[in-house]
Amino acid sequence: MKIDIITLFPGMFAGPFNDSIVKIAKEKKLVKIKMHNLRKWAKDKHKTVDDRPYGGGKGMVLMVEPIFEALKAIAPKAKTHQTKTILLSPQGKTFTQEKAKELAKLDHLVLIAGHYEGFDERIRENLIDEEISIGDYVLTGGELPTMTVIDAIVRLIPGVLDKEAKENESFSKKDLLDYPQYTRPSDFKDWKVPEILLSGNHAEIKKWRKEKSIEKTKKARPDLIKKTNR
Ligand code: SAM
Repeated sequence: MKIDIITLFPGMFAGPFNDSIVKIAKEKKLVKIKMHNLRKWAKDKHKTVDDRPYGGGKGMVLMVEPIFEALKAIAPKAKTHQTKTILLSPQGKTFTQEKAKELAKLDHLVLIAGHYEGFDERIRENLIDEEISIGDYVLTGGELPTMTVIDAIVRLIPGVLDKEAKENESFSKKDLLDYPQYTRPSDFKDWKVPEILLSGNHAEIKKWRKEKSIEKTKKARPDLIKKTNR
């Protein structure tokens, strides 16, 4: 998979993309990630990419032309290839594991991270395929949401992680949270690991984990239980 990121702050990505799973995926050549500074497509000597909003109001708005030019250069065949152009914005549909799975199947993604007051609406109307939000809160810029989305996608690319590790995670099975996990020691300050996990009875352990998974979801995320009618 190839991922292109359009951003005003390419330097922000260095840490998260050069450690852990994303780093491994890059080293295994399962993903190629490239940051593009939007100012490269600015038209004036000051490298301006934002301007005041028509109709008045506070803040600056990202202009349509630099983003149009950036997309023309980065993904000229976007409409005919397995490419998706995604705008990160609090106004988008909330990102989910389902969406991560869907996007992990593509071979090219272009992610646009905003800043300031947001985007000229014509970017939404004419230049993108989807708008994604990472939750109902407002961040300063689209860089952290872009990293979040990429991390969730990259770990699903075949070959990056162990298949079993992914199958048992939260949301991987019908919107259930993961079951409780324990490791050594089996007794710490009289806080004991449930007996069943030490029994070696794999069928019973499986049953217990399923029950605990439902119990946990009911307690922490009743909305998910309602969704699946459990
Ligand atoms: N005025 C905009 C609004 O109310 O929709 C918010 C602008 S925000 C300060 C600047 C940028 O951060 C956005 O354009 C977007 O790229 C990014 N951003 C902020 N919160 C986000 C979220 N929850 N999900 C995805 N991107 C977000």
